[in-house]
Amino acid sequence: MIVMKFGGTSVANFEAITRTIFIIGGRLDQKPIVVVSALSKVTDLLYRISDAAASKDLPQTKELLSQLRQRHVDLTSELLSQSVQKDEAIERVNELCDSLEGIAMAVCSLGELSDRNKAVIISTGEYLSSTIISYAMNAKGIRTKWVDARTMMITSESYLKGEPDMNAIAAKVPGVVAEAYEGMDAIITQGFVGVTSEGRPTVLGRGGSDYSASLIGMAVDAERIEIWTDVDGVRTADPRYVPNTKSLEQISFEEAAEMAHFGAKVLHPLTIEPAVKKNIPIYVLNSMNPSGKGTAILRNELIEDGVKSVSFKENIRVINIFSTKMINTSGFLRRVFEIFSESKVSVDLISTSEANISVTVDSSQNIDPVVAELSEFADVIVDDDKSQVSVIGKNIVKLNGMLKKTFTPLKKCNVYMISQGASFVNISFVVDREELNEVVCDLHHHLFEQPEELETF
Ligand code: ASP
Ligand code: MG
Repeated sequence: MIVMKFGGTSVANFEAITRTIFIIGGRLDQKPIVVVSALSKVTDLLYRISDAAASKDLPQTKELLSQLRQRHVDLTSELLSQSVQKDEAIERVNELCDSLEGIAMAVCSLGELSDRNKAVIISTGEYLSSTIISYAMNAKGIRTKWVDARTMMITSESYLKGEPDMNAIAAKVPGVVAEAYEGMDAIITQGFVGVTSEGRPTVLGRGGSDYSASLIGMAVDAERIEIWTDVDGVRTADPRYVPNTKSLEQISFEEAAEMAHFGAKVLHPLTIEPAVKKNIPIYVLNSMNPSGKGTAILRNELIEDGVKSVSFKENIRVINIFSTKMINTSGFLRRVFEIFSESKVSVDLISTSEANISVTVDSSQNIDPVVAELSEFADVIVDDDKSQVSVIGKNIVKLNGMLKKTFTPLKKCNVYMISQGASFVNISFVVDREELNEVVCDLHHHLFEQPEELETF
């Protein structure tokens, strides 16, 4: 069995879906479980519908709902133009849109949007796409069973960012899949979508379809997990910012997890974990170029040492905490990090010295409560408009000359904080946001375009 996940751009329109179905058709002997995202930009549209409804903007809510319905109905008639099931498929799409409209109208008249209703609204995109693609696959002669992810993807009660219950998922999925597969060539289900153990709808958080795919892969012990997207696999840096990036044929689970966590936009950061549990390879592939090699994400032992990527987070803050109470005392760090944890602020890099702790956090997080509490016993200085750059690769920290190679191109700029992970995969540092572009391009050039052997100690 394999899992094939198709992101929004791989199911954006008639051409993309036709290509995607062709790709699936070539893998039927491997028993694919197809996991789909919403059509591209649809989840954003659903967020806008939620906002419009919550602010009681009836004309705007109606306008956006009608855009959503139109796009899906048009696509269905295009894909099923030759099929006897065309009317049935359109009816199904209309039912999904009706039920969305029902909720949106109720929200609009109350002006109140609970997380629970929001989860239902924003997961409609995946229900629509999976329904349409399921009909289109059947119309192409692939006997396909549509499966509701809410029969198996059990999460916590956090409606908008449900944490998967791995044990419950591992217990449920194989049975649901086996039953659905009877007499079928393929099954299709929704990414992103979850459900509490009590049956209340949740979602896994933005970009969560990759995570769904790897959870399902883990549960059925899949041979491989394929993440189909619109780029040729994972690259040495984000090609939108950096010239001459190269695609990577193979990287390790650990490298991929660090890249995703430290800014590379290829995979949802939590995708790796379930795959690692069962040692299932993940392939990142391009649905616009299906014969391309893509990137294989494999177990650590199979991967060579060396630098693989320059990743970055553009907009971060450094929180500097100074206190003489820290000197020669125990429990200070615990107190500090309890405050972060209670406010659910997640920390990326940490560095400490005798009387100072510096941490980086993503700028999208609200740190006001943290700063207020820390200020009760320490001096706190927050540096805004910083960026974090990470050089990632297996054992790079052990490679002779690597630190020199990393920091040589930075001669001209201020470096605020340096952190070198204990796992030897990551050297990260903080620079001014305005310098980011130049730093990343120089560094990439230096590391990838000037071949010079690095030796292990
Ligand atoms: N459709 C959801 C989103 O856009 C999930 C996903 O595509 O992975 O966030
Ligand atoms: Mg995605």
